[in-house]
Amino acid sequence: MTRLDLVLPLYDEAEALEPVLARIRAVLAEIPDLEWRILLVDDGSRDTTAEIAARLAEAEPRVVLIVFTRNFGKEAAILAGLEASRGEVVLVMDADLQHPPELIPQMLALWRGGARVVEGTKRTRGRESPGARLGAYLFYRLFTRFSGLAIQNATDFKLLDRQAVDAYCALPERNRFFRGLIPWLGLPTAQVPFDVPPRSHGSPSWSRLRLGRLAVDALSAFTSAPLQVITLVGGLVFLTSLILGGIALYQKFAGIAVSGFTTVILLLLLLGSALMFSLGVLGTYVARIYEEVKGRPCYLVDRERSRGIGGDGY
Ligand code: UDP
Ligand code: MG
Repeated sequence: MTRLDLVLPLYDEAEALEPVLARIRAVLAEIPDLEWRILLVDDGSRDTTAEIAARLAEAEPRVVLIVFTRNFGKEAAILAGLEASRGEVVLVMDADLQHPPELIPQMLALWRGGARVVEGTKRTRGRESPGARLGAYLFYRLFTRFSGLAIQNATDFKLLDRQAVDAYCALPERNRFFRGLIPWLGLPTAQVPFDVPPRSHGSPSWSRLRLGRLAVDALSAFTSAPLQVITLVGGLVFLTSLILGGIALYQKFAGIAVSGFTTVILLLLLLGSALMFSLGVLGTYVARIYEEVKGRPCYLVDRERSRGIGGDGY
């Protein structure tokens, strides 16, 4: 018997929840020798997701519900699900049917074949605006370049062996990037490419700003290269100003000066912008240190509204 836990982070998925579970059930029913649980993590939804999920969890012990006291973000929801899981294999998937449950048998087969991590990778990116596409392209190029981890087509649709789950949960950091940290573990990995279907309903809950922040977080979590780039830029700017300064001095002593006003302005602008930029980057890292040092938990569970945590509901 294989025990499989499915982790579904939920944020305002009231409409999707029941159809998604029905589809997952249909797939799981076909797999022999499988005991499964579904761990629903309600990430502070503003709609009736938690109520619907509670009904489902009460009707069936195999459905467990963890309710957050507020919206802590998808990363926290994934972590909560992984921490509550006990199966020897755990699957993390979105609840908007963008991660087709029909791939589960194939993923399980690869896991049985020895892969400790089986990741669903995007063959196509689904429908997206050119802006979003460019943003994603730039982010993944930068991330791969600096972290040395290739995650271009990676998704959060991942099947994890117990070893991977335990390693992930044991990581001390608070600010997590699931998609980057799992490859970082370096466990034997297999890939299952799939086409991302459009969302089953509603719109993605990530604003441009939030995605941008996620990108900065992810990059600064995996590389301190920007800090080194700054030192380099600082050095170059300093060299330039030395040369310009030399020229200005020469002109002054040669008696052909005064026209140096432009140089001054240029220097000011250059230095000013370089300084501001570096302060911004420094700030990013200081902020990270601050986040980690505070040591706050990644999420808080609303005990009263949750169902079946800690029980053995397979
Ligand atoms: N989600 C979450 N907390 C959030 C935002 C999203 O748990 O703050 C969940 C959401 O319910 C869904 C998954 O994360 O199951 C992916 O969200 P979405 O489809 O909005 O993102 P995308 O498909 O663009 O990655
Ligand atoms: Mg989605």
